[in-house]
Amino acid sequence: MQQLYEELGIDKEVAAFGESILAGLKERFEAIDKNAEYNQLKVIKAMQACHVSEACLLGTTGYGYNDVGRDTLEAVYAKLFGTEDALVRPQITCGTHALALALMSNLRPGDELLSPVGKPYDTLEEVIGIRESKGSLKEYGIRYRQVDLLSNGEFDYEGIRAAVNDSTKLVTIQRSKGYQTRKTLSVERIGKLIAFIKNIKPDIICMVDNCYGEFVEVIEPTDVGADMIVGSLIKNPGGGLAPIGGYIAGKKECVENAAFRLTSPGLGKEVGASLGILKDFYQGLFLAPTVTAAALKGAVFAAACLEKLGFSVVPDSTESRHDIIQAVTFGSKEGVIAFCRGIQAAAPVDSFVVPEPWDMPGYDAPVIMAAGAFVSGSSIELSADGPIKPPYAVYFQGGLTFPHAKFGILKALQSLKNAGVIPSFEK
Ligand SMILES: *Cc1c(COP(=O)(O)O)cnc(C)c1O
Repeated sequence: MQQLYEELGIDKEVAAFGESILAGLKERFEAIDKNAEYNQLKVIKAMQACHVSEACLLGTTGYGYNDVGRDTLEAVYAKLFGTEDALVRPQITCGTHALALALMSNLRPGDELLSPVGKPYDTLEEVIGIRESKGSLKEYGIRYRQVDLLSNGEFDYEGIRAAVNDSTKLVTIQRSKGYQTRKTLSVERIGKLIAFIKNIKPDIICMVDNCYGEFVEVIEPTDVGADMIVGSLIKNPGGGLAPIGGYIAGKKECVENAAFRLTSPGLGKEVGASLGILKDFYQGLFLAPTVTAAALKGAVFAAACLEKLGFSVVPDSTESRHDIIQAVTFGSKEGVIAFCRGIQAAAPVDSFVVPEPWDMPGYDAPVIMAAGAFVSGSSIELSADGPIKPPYAVYFQGGLTFPHAKFGILKALQSLKNAGVIPSFEK
């Protein structure tokens, strides 16, 4: 093993450091495996209950009428998440699209949207119209209100009570911290927030942006009162195999509204050929609990290594986890770049390219990204990125297998060592 690691560019000191950290994570990993076992059974139970058959793995073309595989997959998602219905489609191009679809189809001119958990994910700013954009909710006369979290990270219950009014139609709750410093919300906390909101106004639609959260816990937001959960298939629930897609699971009416908007009024869920993609959707969902577990172990291992080396990590290696994202603050440009280059060098695809920071559209500082993925942009695969600005933090996620996530982190540590960011691994 050591020889192979050396051939792959990991020196003895880095490898030994990694092993010493890993030795302390046994209990943590056992708990993650138990969680995956539970969720694996949940997925199998849903597939069996919905009579997934060999015919479901095939696809349709053209209009896609009577696509039994597509309809059964949607029944599986609904069963799994305990909802009345679900929309799971390759025609939903990404997570942002799924969220935009859920919002635009369930809100009408004059309605108000409320985020009680602070600023939503960057790309939603344009969907909502916080940043001016063509086709935003704002352009259609849908207003937006936001209540920030308190400085201690708690919900601002009084602020939320004051913000809810006759026009408040839908509440959007983002589970993952995304690229912010706040903590990710546990499903339990989301449940408490939903109960509080429904108590003020029972007919508000509570939607949860579930991106990066699926299968991290044994319950999902729909188990604690969410009317709708929304996510991307090139994150957790696609298990690394789905090459595209998004889902919306929830109340029949919410899902129906989304279907009529995705295709056309009158057509809804009846059209939308699945082409040849269904086998990957089913198999990806089947693998998703263990793939998510691999990513979680990678995140915990990264946190443990980097906190031992004196860097600030969110969450830390002992905290309970509610999504697969790991944030590490390096405090220097060199740290961010070296970490990302190490992750890239561990990839199965494009390992030989060297990532550089660049001025990406929509960002106010250069961003460096590491991704050598089978599915372009997939962040359930091992990936990292960070803006080149204070506090010089990197966001790291994914790994389809734990051995790959581990190798990626060792490569990143080696790269930090070679760049002089980590002078020594002596403890
Ligand atoms: C990834 C993500 C999105 C957007 O998904 P894309 O597929 O990148 O469009 C939205 N919200 C959260 C919390 C996410 O993590």
